[in-house]
Amino acid sequence: NRVFRYRPDSSCLSDQQGHRSLLRFGNGLPLDAGSPVTLLGFAFHGRRTPGRASDRHNKVVSRRPFLNLLPRVSADLEVQPSVTTHDAAHLVASFEQSGRGWFWATDAAGGLTYLSASICQLVGPSVQTSQGSPLTGLFMPADENSDVRQRLPFVLGKKSAFDKLVLQTADGAQARWWETSGRPIMSESGEFQGFRGFCVDVTEQLQSSQSASQLALFDPLTGLPNRLNMSQTLDRSMQLVERHGKVCAVMLIDLDRFKQVNDSLGHPAGDALLTNVAARLVKVVGDTSKVFRLGGDEFQLILPDTEDRSSLGQLADRIIESVSQPYMIEGSRCVIGASIGVAVAPFDGATGEHLVRNADLALYAAKGNGRGCYRFFSASLLEVAEDRRNLENDLRDAISNGDLSLYYQPQVSVDTNNVTGVEALIRWQHPVRGMVSPALFIPIAEEANLIERLGEWIIRKACDDAASWPGHIKVAVNVSPLQFSSDNLPATVVSALASSGLPPGRLELELTEGVFLSESIETDAMFSRLKEIGVRLALDDFGTGYSSLGYLKTAPFDKIKIDQSFVRGATLPGSRNGAIIAAIVALAGALDMETTAEGIETLDQLKLISSLGVSHIQGYVYSKPITGEELALQLDQGQWTLAPSGPARQRSERKSMYRKAGVIVGNYYHPVIIRNLSETGALVEGLIDIPVGTQIVLDFGECQMEIATVRRSTKRGHGLSFGHPLIADGAGNFCTSHRISPYVLSRMGLSSSDHLGASRVWDVSNSVSLETLASTLGLTLPAEQHASDRTGQGLGQASAVHARLMANVNPLHSLMLLGSSRNGERKLTESEWENLKSAVEASQNSQLRYIIALVVLTGVRLHELMAAHWSDINFESRLWTVQESRTSPQRQITLSTAALEVIEHLPRWPECANLIVNPRTRKPYNSVFGSWDAARKRAGLDHLSIHDLRNSIRQAW
Ligand code: C2E
Ligand code: MG
Ligand code: MG
Repeated sequence: NRVFRYRPDSSCLSDQQGHRSLLRFGNGLPLDAGSPVTLLGFAFHGRRTPGRASDRHNKVVSRRPFLNLLPRVSADLEVQPSVTTHDAAHLVASFEQSGRGWFWATDAAGGLTYLSASICQLVGPSVQTSQGSPLTGLFMPADENSDVRQRLPFVLGKKSAFDKLVLQTADGAQARWWETSGRPIMSESGEFQGFRGFCVDVTEQLQSSQSASQLALFDPLTGLPNRLNMSQTLDRSMQLVERHGKVCAVMLIDLDRFKQVNDSLGHPAGDALLTNVAARLVKVVGDTSKVFRLGGDEFQLILPDTEDRSSLGQLADRIIESVSQPYMIEGSRCVIGASIGVAVAPFDGATGEHLVRNADLALYAAKGNGRGCYRFFSASLLEVAEDRRNLENDLRDAISNGDLSLYYQPQVSVDTNNVTGVEALIRWQHPVRGMVSPALFIPIAEEANLIERLGEWIIRKACDDAASWPGHIKVAVNVSPLQFSSDNLPATVVSALASSGLPPGRLELELTEGVFLSESIETDAMFSRLKEIGVRLALDDFGTGYSSLGYLKTAPFDKIKIDQSFVRGATLPGSRNGAIIAAIVALAGALDMETTAEGIETLDQLKLISSLGVSHIQGYVYSKPITGEELALQLDQGQWTLAPSGPARQRSERKSMYRKAGVIVGNYYHPVIIRNLSETGALVEGLIDIPVGTQIVLDFGECQMEIATVRRSTKRGHGLSFGHPLIADGAGNFCTSHRISPYVLSRMGLSSSDHLGASRVWDVSNSVSLETLASTLGLTLPAEQHASDRTGQGLGQASAVHARLMANVNPLHSLMLLGSSRNGERKLTESEWENLKSAVEASQNSQLRYIIALVVLTGVRLHELMAAHWSDINFESRLWTVQESRTSPQRQITLSTAALEVIEHLPRWPECANLIVNPRTRKPYNSVFGSWDAARKRAGLDHLSIHDLRNSIRQAW
C-alpha cells in the first residue's frame, strides 16, 4: 500500500524520500519524473551474485530484457492511479512497436476484437486478421502427435487463464514462435466474454535450444537420427498403435563382416563405410526420417502404418541387395553383407521396447540362418535359442557315438546321362527328432567349434568309400569356410588320401563364396596348397551370396555349381534367371571350368537348363541322395546311367508338417492340424462334415488368418486353397502377409496362444456369415467372392453392403463443421472435429460412425435413431417418419442426399427390422453410450455429449 515515485534518470522506483531505489528496470517507463506509483505486486527473476549470498541488496533483476518482463509487469504490477490512460496507451504502443510482442483480445466465440498492428505484417497474406476472424487462425495447426492439452483450441475451450503456450504463427515469411498467455474476461455476473492476452517472441531461444537438442538427436558421423531419436519416434508411433489402432513395423539391420573391414582397413575406413551404408539405406527407403543409426554397425528402420509382410520382405531384400554391393573405400574394394530382423506392432509387441527386443531376436535368427537374409519375428523364435543349446549337446554325443552318416547324390552329365561323380552329404538320424537337416546342424557345429572334427571325419569317410568305387566316379565333399581357414586342412586332406589310396584328382572340395570374405593373403595361400595336392575345387551355391565374378578370375576352380534358387525361378514367366545362367555358363567356359546346376526337380527345368549349356546336373530329377550301400550296389554294374523322371513342371512347394491351427466355419471354431502347407493351399486334418466349396477362415495362430475354400475331402483330410497366397517368412516357411489386430482377437476370445487346441462357439448369435466374419477380422474376401457378389448369386444384400463397407466407405469423411452454436455453446473447432472423427472411426463399435453421422445429418435424437425401422423410411419420397417417443410426437423429416447415402451403407439383415443393428449379434444395441464415452475420451472431448452434436454441427456434403 505504499506509494513510490518514478525516477526516469535511473529507471527505478524509489520510496517517498526519493533516495532508496527499490525496483530497477532495464528500460524506461513512459511516466513523468516523480509520478506517484503504487505497487500492487511484482514478480521478477532474481538471482544472486556468488559470494554475497546473504546480502539482500544483492538480489539483481534478471538480465532478460525489460520487454520480456513487461507482460508480467502488465499482469502483476499495476501502476496506479497516477498513470493516465494516455500513458498506459503509450506503454502498450512502445511494446507493440518493438516487434518483440503483441496483444490480442477475443469475444466469447474466439473471434478477434483487438490485435496489435505489428503482428499483421508478420503473418502471411492468407491469414485473416480482421475483426471477428478466429484467433486460432493466426497460428499453425498443432502437429498431430502433440499433446492435446498443449493445443490452442483445447486451451481456449477451457475458458480459463493460460500461460506460455508456445505457438508458431501461420504462413509468415519467416518462421516465428510466440509464448502466448491469456486471461478470460468475465462480466460482472460472471459470464465468460472472451479472452485478453499477449504473445512474446521466443524464436531465438527456441532455435538455440533446438539446435542443441538437434545435436543430441542425430548421429554426427552419418547425420542419421540416433538411438535416442529412435526411441522417441518409436514411442510416438506406439501411442498411435495403442490409441488409434494403427500399425508400425521395426526393422533392425546389422552389417555382416563390418568388423573385419574395420580391423583390416582401419577405423577411418570403417567410418567411411558406415557413411556409405547410411546413404544406401536412405536411398532404398526413400525417407531420411525413417532410418536410424543405433551405433556401431547397427541400423534401424521405423515404418509407421506398415504391416504387410510381403512388402516388408521385399524391402528387406532390396536393403540386403543394396548393402551387399561392393564398396570402394580409400582405394580398397570391400564387400559386406546385412542381416535383418523384422517385428510389427501390435502383433509382435505392444510397447516400443518389446517390439525392438523381438526384432532383435528375429535378427539373431537371421544371422543364425547363415546371414545375408531377413527374418520376421515369430513366437517360436523364443524357443529357438533353447533348442539350439540342446541340439549342440546332442551333436557332440552324435559325433562320439557315430550317429552321423554320409549319403551320396549323383551328379550326371547332361550329354550322356552318365553319373560322373557324387556329392557327399552328411545325415544325422537324431534318436528323438528323426532326421535333422545339415542346413540346421552345420551352423551349430561351426559355432560350437565342432566343425573341424566333424569335417575331418567327413573327408576321411568320403575318401574311404570312394576308393572302393570305379575310377571314373569322383566324390565331392563340402568344406565349411571355417575349415578352410584352418591351417590343418591340407594335412587332413593329404592324410585322408594317403590312408584311403584315393587319387587326388577324384576328390573335389566344394567351397562357398564365404571363403573369400577375408580376401586375405592366407586365402590365396590355401588355394595354392590345395592345388599343389592335386584335388579339384568347386565353387558351391553360386548365385546366393555376393556373386562377385572377380574372384573367379584368380581362384583356381574346376567347377561352378549354380545354386538351386536360380534354377527354381528360371521356368517362371518373366524370369531373367535363364539369361543369367547362360552368362555364367559362358563365363565358366571361357575360364575352362565345368558347370553343375543344382536342385533340378522337374522335367521343364531340366529341358531349360540343358538348353543353356550346363555340363552337369545334380537334382531329384535324376536321384535324391542315397546311402553308401545303395550307391555301391549301383556302381557294381559298371557304367551307371540315370533316366530323368519327375513332375512335368514346378508346382508351389508343399511343406509337410504337424502344426496346430483352427478353422472358423460360421460361428464354430474347430481345432485342426495342418499336415502340409504351400503358398496357395493346405491339407488339414480334423474337419468333419464340411462340404467341398465351403468358405472358411483358417487360423494359423500368432494373429494370422486367411480365408480359404474347401477344395477336396479325402481320407487324409481336407484340401484347402487360400483366397490370397501366403508369403515366405525368410526361414523357409510361409506366413500371411497381413495379420489381425490382437485387440480384435481378444474381443473374440482368440488371443491366448492355447486357443488353437480348443473347439468352441465363438459368437453366440446363430449363424455368422463369412462376410460378417471377414469384416470383423478385417480380412478381405478373395476376388471370386466379389464376382459372385456383383452378379448377386448366392449372396444376399448384406454381403453387397459389406463389400462396400470394406471398401472403406466412411460417412464421417464427408462431414464438415459449418454451423453455429446453440445457447451460447461453443462449436467444435476443426481440429476437435478431426480428433472426434478419428476416435469414432477407431471405435470398437463399427456402427458408431454411422450413428454419429445420422445424428448430425438429420438432427434426430439418439433414442429415435436407435428405435428407427427400415419401414419408417420411404426412399422414393426421401421421407423418414420418426415415430412418437417419450420426448416428441410422431413427425416426418426430409432426408438429405448425404443422410440417404449413409443409410444406404448400413448393413441390413432381413431378420432384423431395425435400422441400426449390431452386425455381430444382428440385434439392436442395448446402448451405445459406452462406445460414445470411449470415443469422446479418446478425442479429448470429455464433456461433449452426443446430444450436443445434433445442434452444434451441420453438414456440408
Ligand atoms: P549343398 O552343398 O548345396 O548341397 C545340396 C543340397 O541340395 C543338399 O541338401 C541336397 O540334398 C539338396 N538337393 C539336391 N538336389 C535337390 C533337388 O532337386 N531339390 C531339392 N529341394 N534339394 C536338392 P542337404 O543335404 O540338406 O544339405 C544342405 C546343405 O548343408 C548343403 O548344401 C551344404 O551346404 C551343407 N552340407 C551338407 N553336407 C555337408 C557336409 O558334409 N559338410 C559341410 N560342411 N556342409 C554340408
Ligand atoms: Mg555342396
Ligand atoms: Mg549347393
